[in-house]
Amino acid sequence: MSIQSAPALSVRQPWAGAILTLGKTIENRGWDTSHRSHLLIHASKGLELGAVPLVEDTADRAVPPFDNPKSGTAWATAALVGVVSLRATHHASDCRGKCSPWAMPDQWHWELTNPRTFDEPIPAVGRLKLWRPDYDARRALRKQLQKAVEL
Ligand SMILES: [Zn+2]
Repeated sequence: MSIQSAPALSVRQPWAGAILTLGKTIENRGWDTSHRSHLLIHASKGLELGAVPLVEDTADRAVPPFDNPKSGTAWATAALVGVVSLRATHHASDCRGKCSPWAMPDQWHWELTNPRTFDEPIPAVGRLKLWRPDYDARRALRKQLQKAVEL
């Protein structure tokens, strides 16, 4: 599956940035998916400020300010910010929460690999579950990917 036809998952900051830049390789969800391969990471408009200390403790690194161009695309909001590969999923009852320091109990653990941050955030409104970006967002994504190939 090509990246521009991949589905998107909306994730609130600081989790989206943690997936792309802080080594968060497990996404915790209350539901499972059969989707595999590329998964676009969309940073929601809403923030989860209460999670910042947890992310900083787990990553042993500071979380930069959200939505500040100097922080990089990974920390933008209300935008597609990068892509990962969804390799597999398993339930917390299978790993007993020991698969990753990012794993949470009673959740499905989505195993993410190969995180790549886009050059620029692509504005998009988030949705629940897996969703397909609209035409404008997919066109912007295709442009960025073409540029990356030409470089
Ligand atoms: Zn696990």
